[in-house]
Amino acid sequence: MDYQQLIEEVYQEVQSENLKGKVADYIPEIANVDPNQFGIALVDLKGNVYGVGDHQVPFSIQSISKVHTLTMVFHRFNSKLWTRVNVEPSGDPFNSIAQLEYEKGIPRNPFINAGALVITDALCSKFENPIDQITDFINELTGESCVKINADVKNSEMAHGERNTALAYFLKSFKNFDNPIDEVLEVYFSHCAMEMSCVDLAKSFSFLANDGYSIFANRQILSESHARRVNAVMLTCGFYDEAGEFAFRVGMPGKSGVGGGVAAVMPHKFSIAVWSPELNEKGNSVKSIRALELLTDKLAFSLF
Ligand code: GLU
Repeated sequence: MDYQQLIEEVYQEVQSENLKGKVADYIPEIANVDPNQFGIALVDLKGNVYGVGDHQVPFSIQSISKVHTLTMVFHRFNSKLWTRVNVEPSGDPFNSIAQLEYEKGIPRNPFINAGALVITDALCSKFENPIDQITDFINELTGESCVKINADVKNSEMAHGERNTALAYFLKSFKNFDNPIDEVLEVYFSHCAMEMSCVDLAKSFSFLANDGYSIFANRQILSESHARRVNAVMLTCGFYDEAGEFAFRVGMPGKSGVGGGVAAVMPHKFSIAVWSPELNEKGNSVKSIRALELLTDKLAFSLF
């Protein structure tokens, strides 16, 4: 399979379709990004990197970072983690508070905001200097020092963080939150404000395509069984309330963010990151999803 030719074909086809969406505007700093940027990077299991378009431009990875933080806490808590957060698709918007009430403070999954806040809280219980530990971990996964936290994005989100703050207090009222709320929110907004390029992001997901072993970090990041489970949660919960649609159209485990990025894996083959800032009404990047749909259509193999 000539991956370079494949992603170039996909890139050209998507560009010719003239797809439109809307850049996320609830985080003012993100609303200022150039909406026409579009990049794809694919990394195979030998470490070969293929790229097209704006694949080397850093962008705000936002919720994609929830996969990295879940990875950091998973093996430290094992099954205990799943007493604090479930693994069911949500069907509600990513920042919904409604389900928390009738599910007694146990978020539906680790990728909606309530679940990600529980994961960040768990991370704060286990790591000193959690923000540094998160960036160090991701740098290790990519084999280089590539992660930057955009302070303007972080501050912008903190200044407009009423919803996430409410979620944290609500979790605390159900005793599903251990650390001071302000501290955890700062870590959460910091990891959402990390910037990486498609190339870095695809490298950082490579271990999930490789049974938990990172060829860039040269070590087993998660056990094979834990890596499979992270992939299962991505497949069922990785795309807000559009996870079913993504599984139907694309059929790869992945995670999207409101910055317009999507990172996904084809187990035992490759990891891929696509970025284009304009989103559909569910919060997923219009071009990124279309690119992955075309890519899996053209591939001679699939997850299923
Ligand atoms: N930092 C964003 C929030 O909590 C993440 C949104 C996303 O990418 O889903 O609202």
